[in-house]
Amino acid sequence: MKRKYTAGIDIGGTGTKLGLFAYGGKPVEIWSIPTDTADHGGHIIKNAAESLCRKMKALGVSSADMEGAGIAVPGAVKDGIHAEVCPNIGWMHRDVRAEFIEAFSAALLSGQIHAETAGREAYVAGEKKREPETADTSALFRTSLAHINSSITCEEANDRGCGFFEPWLDSELLPPSFRVKVMNDAAAAACGEFTAGGGRSSRTMMMVTLGTGVGAAVIADGRLINGVFGCAGEIGHMNVNPTETEKCSCGRRGCLEQYVSAGGIVHRMKKYLESGGKSLLDENSLSAENISDAVYNGDELAERVMKETGSLLGRALATVSCVIDPGLFVIGGGVAEAGEVLLTPVRESYINTCYPPSAGARIIKAELGGNAGVYGCALSL
Ligand SMILES: [Zn+2]
Repeated sequence: MKRKYTAGIDIGGTGTKLGLFAYGGKPVEIWSIPTDTADHGGHIIKNAAESLCRKMKALGVSSADMEGAGIAVPGAVKDGIHAEVCPNIGWMHRDVRAEFIEAFSAALLSGQIHAETAGREAYVAGEKKREPETADTSALFRTSLAHINSSITCEEANDRGCGFFEPWLDSELLPPSFRVKVMNDAAAAACGEFTAGGGRSSRTMMMVTLGTGVGAAVIADGRLINGVFGCAGEIGHMNVNPTETEKCSCGRRGCLEQYVSAGGIVHRMKKYLESGGKSLLDENSLSAENISDAVYNGDELAERVMKETGSLLGRALATVSCVIDPGLFVIGGGVAEAGEVLLTPVRESYINTCYPPSAGARIIKAELGGNAGVYGCALSL
């Protein structure tokens, strides 16, 4: 039987978005916390688990009502469990599912204990009639953890400040069927748009997210394509300029990401300004957002940069269409907020370079905006 709620956690390079959804897809609440990339990203999962736990408590949602959590990570995921290399957050080969279950269990446990500690303090102050019962706490703690398949020990929990244990901890912390699914962030965004956004009417689509990097994922005949190495759809690293001398984040040269990501747009604008180009913008305060805004204010250099961006992306999408022939391309991420300044040149370039029978594919802006990933991972459980 399906439980009442699912959670989505979309981990980004600077912020982590979390969502609690009623099972079936209606969001109860979506919120964000900063992503702490210190210590090779070692605090990220714990921070997210604790934030989710606090929100559940504030909303009166019990862990027994949770179906599970979907987690989107900015890197390759091969098996729904492990994240491979995630350069933006400092991760290498992590068992995200096990780490989340451990952190979430500890957060739930800690939250319950803190509540009980408050009760004990209230009793001491004369507000309670009965002192809490005592018990062999170590045994109870091990019992409570047995069904969540975690390797955490009583001593480790004490080290984390969990305090003392009470008999009521013997109650179930997480349902035995609690599921955790780990996905690539672009794949999660694709599933979000496919399920609840602009892709609802499409069976075969590609999602492209333009932000710090370029993420992309393919849904073909209603199924997310993962690929053998977890890299299906990664058009950000499609070579579009064999003569490029600067390196991409992947180590190659000439990748699409070097030109159409937020950093790539700023980098090209800066180069034009350094070589004498005239613009309303100051070269020391450039961002993809103010470059696209400048186009609406009649800035010709900014318009040139955005047209080049659209042209490169349109050609890349035309190449993709030769392989999967989608009816829809959904463009999301912060750069897509540029709207028609970007999308019009993308469409023109696509139509001029695609295999003509595929020219009818629609190219639209993501409907769910920055929430596509958190929808996708929560609703893919
Ligand atoms: Zn690359």
